[in-house]
Amino acid sequence: MNLSDIKGIGPKTLGLLNKLSIYTIDDLIRYYPYRYNTYSTSNILEIEEDTNVVISGIVTSTPKISYIKRNFNKLNFTLETNNVNINVSIFNRAFLSHNIYIGKNITLIGKYNRIKNTFTASDIKLYGLTKTEVEPVYHMINGLKTASLKKIIYNILNSNIEINEIVPEYLSNKYEFIDTKTAIREIHFPSNTNNIKQAKLKLKYEELFAFMFKINLMKFKNQIFDNFVIKNIKPEYLDDVIDNLPFALTSDQLEAVKDIISDFNHERRMNRLILGDVGSGKTIVSFIAILLNQKVGYQSAMLAPTEVLAHQHYDNFKSLFPNINVAILVGSQTKKEKETIIEELKQGNIDLLIGTHAILEENVEFKNIGLVITDEQHRFGVNQRKKLQNKGQAVDVLYMSATPIPRTYALTIYGDMDISMIKQKPSGRKDILTKVYKFDEITKIIQEIEEELSLKHQVYVIAPLIEENEDTELNDILKIEGILKSHFKNKHNIGTLHGKMKASEKDAIMNNFKSGKLEVLVSTTVIEVGVDVQNATMIAIFNAERFGLATLHQLRGRVGRNSLQSKCLLISDKESERLHVLEESNDGFYISECDFKLRGSGDLFGIRQSGDMVFKIADIHNDYKILLQCKSDSQEFLDNNIENNFRDYAYYRHIVDQLMNNN
Ligand code: ADP
Ligand code: MG
Repeated sequence: MNLSDIKGIGPKTLGLLNKLSIYTIDDLIRYYPYRYNTYSTSNILEIEEDTNVVISGIVTSTPKISYIKRNFNKLNFTLETNNVNINVSIFNRAFLSHNIYIGKNITLIGKYNRIKNTFTASDIKLYGLTKTEVEPVYHMINGLKTASLKKIIYNILNSNIEINEIVPEYLSNKYEFIDTKTAIREIHFPSNTNNIKQAKLKLKYEELFAFMFKINLMKFKNQIFDNFVIKNIKPEYLDDVIDNLPFALTSDQLEAVKDIISDFNHERRMNRLILGDVGSGKTIVSFIAILLNQKVGYQSAMLAPTEVLAHQHYDNFKSLFPNINVAILVGSQTKKEKETIIEELKQGNIDLLIGTHAILEENVEFKNIGLVITDEQHRFGVNQRKKLQNKGQAVDVLYMSATPIPRTYALTIYGDMDISMIKQKPSGRKDILTKVYKFDEITKIIQEIEEELSLKHQVYVIAPLIEENEDTELNDILKIEGILKSHFKNKHNIGTLHGKMKASEKDAIMNNFKSGKLEVLVSTTVIEVGVDVQNATMIAIFNAERFGLATLHQLRGRVGRNSLQSKCLLISDKESERLHVLEESNDGFYISECDFKLRGSGDLFGIRQSGDMVFKIADIHNDYKILLQCKSDSQEFLDNNIENNFRDYAYYRHIVDQLMNNN
């Protein structure tokens, strides 16, 4: 059954649901509330004044409406509660006047003034409350009411819809879980707080179990079924490469390279993650892997999350290693250009293909691919990993991520991978001086920028783009550009960069910034990941409160990429403890821990942005214990059932078939 077949979902509602990423019935019933309001009624004789309370009672007078101004009215009536008759007033509820009549049992939320015997209500419910009531609160959008959403969900749950149990029965029994349909019902229509807890536990476990199962399965597949080649990298190959680098590797970089060589040379397929803070120098490690791979006769592919980054790697690689044939493939190229590259690839004339998602397409075939690299791995989902591996028979895979994620979490989320950590920064790097400013200190901010420019250094200025909400007073790019221009009076060259520009325009701007023609780059966060311009030593980030700490740390990592002192200005009118964390520390791991503590959950690490890792109810931080349990439970489940091909578990048989046959 489709969403549109459901009573109460017309084209308009369907559109609104889609906006909330609800496309199927399953999405809908699993559109969980993000919190609950709890109401329990107070006795009017006992309540404290001036605090919000809930009372229930019987209406004892017909409401009087007074229209105070346009769009502003007031209802007055009396209510008997705990044998006391009180005066009630509530604003802007004139439309309810017919539902409030003598003898009607209602519930009010608001504040009581004992001397005047007046209750000023902020909300009203047209029913009496006898016990504690728990009310789910959903993320909503304009045009869709919570009540309508709940009504639709209610109808679905009360139809004879079947909801599959994903957790194997023996585990559900072991943990005494409630069944999923009941759990979903309790999440939306809770009977009490304890039931919500039970429901959440089941649904979180279910979600994390299925997730960890996939991770474990991938690991299993890598170990058992994969072909491999032994690449036979000789020590002198590495010496040769290292002698020709523009700088000496840090010892962490060297360790990572050695890990890779050991994978290359052993009887297994490499599946390795390089985890290192921004600016730790992951790129060169991957380049070395590419060179060694090429030396023994294989092609490589490198996947980057943005075209800007793909171009940067391409330019970098070409200038460092002019003897290797490298090509770039991105979505914005013409069909003709793409066809030429694809043909050359097939012929084996290209050693390294760098690109965006475009390289995942099916028609991109290699003659002899031996190594695949994904940069900024956390931007990609589990399924994309799979697609890349499938580009060849025995491809070694290397992932890179700057996500400053504690090792324990990494082991879980990236449980199918081996991990090399790069902790040190290249020597001579200074901490980036970071300072929080208010917007009205703009003259000082401009002064700081001018000082930096007078040293012949370059500056990034980050402004969030106005997104859907047009009336928020965000400083969008053009406004910031305008401010800078009016201050600089043509003294400095300013360029702008944002996601809506054409790729060729972006490249042109980036190139002009790299070459120094542009001194200031005003940009949205499209530059967030990976961009490397050494002469840029200052970054000013407007509306800094809009970003998570992890993102700010990534953005800040655009500077401080050489031995010069770099600076970061965070501009925000909202006083926030969070931003000061960045003033104190340059350590990505520390910052991510703070982000965790301060924000609780959310899109920390950027991990949740990638499709497969979007959890609807679980949270890898708060639910870490459940996650660990699911890791071992799902491993055991896998071990016990892989031989009979999950005979009794259609759901998992399907997942296994998909992954194993997709080769
Ligand atoms: P990230 O780990 O954030 O991807 P990059 O690979 O972009 O970092 O490296 C940041 C900068 O540091 C680059 O300009 C790179 O050339 C430089 N770099 C990398 N390793 C070293 C090193 N061992 N010594 C000096 N500079 C280095
Ligand atoms: Mg990088």
